[in-house]
Amino acid sequence: MPPEGTDDTAHSALSESPRFPGVLGHTTVQGHLARAIARGQLHHALILMGPRGIGKETLARGLACALLCRARPGLGCGECSICRRVLARNHPDLTYLEPSGAGGSIAVADARACQIRQASAPYEADAHVIVIDPADALGGASGNALLKSIEEPRPGVHWILLTTNLHGVLPTILSRALPIRLGRLDDAVVRAILGRALPDVGEDRREMGTLLAEGSAGLAIELARDEALERCIALLAQAIGAARRGPAGVFAGDRSPLWTAWREAVAAAVAVKERAEAEEKAAAAAANAGAIKVSSAKRKNTTSKAASKKKSKKSGSSKEPPAQQRWVASRLGELWTLHLRQHLRNKPGLPGVPELADRPAKQLVADLAVLRRLDARIRGNANVRLIVEQTLLDLGARPA
Ligand SMILES: [Zn+2]
Repeated sequence: MPPEGTDDTAHSALSESPRFPGVLGHTTVQGHLARAIARGQLHHALILMGPRGIGKETLARGLACALLCRARPGLGCGECSICRRVLARNHPDLTYLEPSGAGGSIAVADARACQIRQASAPYEADAHVIVIDPADALGGASGNALLKSIEEPRPGVHWILLTTNLHGVLPTILSRALPIRLGRLDDAVVRAILGRALPDVGEDRREMGTLLAEGSAGLAIELARDEALERCIALLAQAIGAARRGPAGVFAGDRSPLWTAWREAVAAAVAVKERAEAEEKAAAAAANAGAIKVSSAKRKNTTSKAASKKKSKKSGSSKEPPAQQRWVASRLGELWTLHLRQHLRNKPGLPGVPELADRPAKQLVADLAVLRRLDARIRGNANVRLIVEQTLLDLGARPA
């Protein structure tokens, strides 16, 4: 049996037992779950909820190890064949129900197939764990297909539902499950996860990711490895300046510092995407060569080549695919929000970005609401730049 706290990060704050395989942080929740399993009282349907990137899916896999592992029942050893396959999402008694269509919702056919599967015995283990990710992607029909099974699953079946948005989960599902709120991670935990996930990334970048991500390890990893991050921070600096100047700053023309920074950020995002696509292709080729099926082939392969051929004669659009414009606008909103929150907490904002000290706290809170709407506005409008302009004008409005 492996010793308690086989924590390769060797950080005292992280090695509190019990710890499910692969899970760092959330020690209180892990403790509750481990005790419930030990007493045979684990609720058959759990909803893990909390912000993006804090490790809901990681905890689901760790919990699945605890439920399936025979070497260390109730906790999971992390090393046996069962645990290794669970951690790789590659065990026949760990089922994922995820959106498959373009609309981002879980297909009724998939929900029905899952319902049929859960009614039969586990293939190898003594239990069957089904993860629904995210639970708010269950629509009325797909939710209905699962209601009975979630209410009264066959013995040994465990439902783990994940969501960032509890209000989006069908009330009929919600009433049959036990919600568990996962809080944000300590910076020490985020640092440890980053160190483990990105050993080759420089410490400065990892620290920046940790600072920016506010307790979300997933976001910290994304930011630390984001090669367009500096460009987006430079854009934020220009955007805050332009918003302050009002229409004169926002509509200063394509060659103004604001829109130059915008183009540079979009170009950086395009470069990142092209590299990611090349890596994905290489990985797919390697996986095919080894005939190993890994279950995450849901990314669309919209090539940026098609967009970069001069289909449209509109200025700038040939080199600025809308998807990357949306991505930059969304990241701009995210960074602005983080910068703002730092100010509200009287902490230093992002490096090189203008201070917001002259803006009253009440106005900063109103600005947060404007930024929160940004993603929805970008999604609903083909003209990303127009939305960015409107948002900057809103954010530059003088306090009443
Ligand atoms: Zn094990």
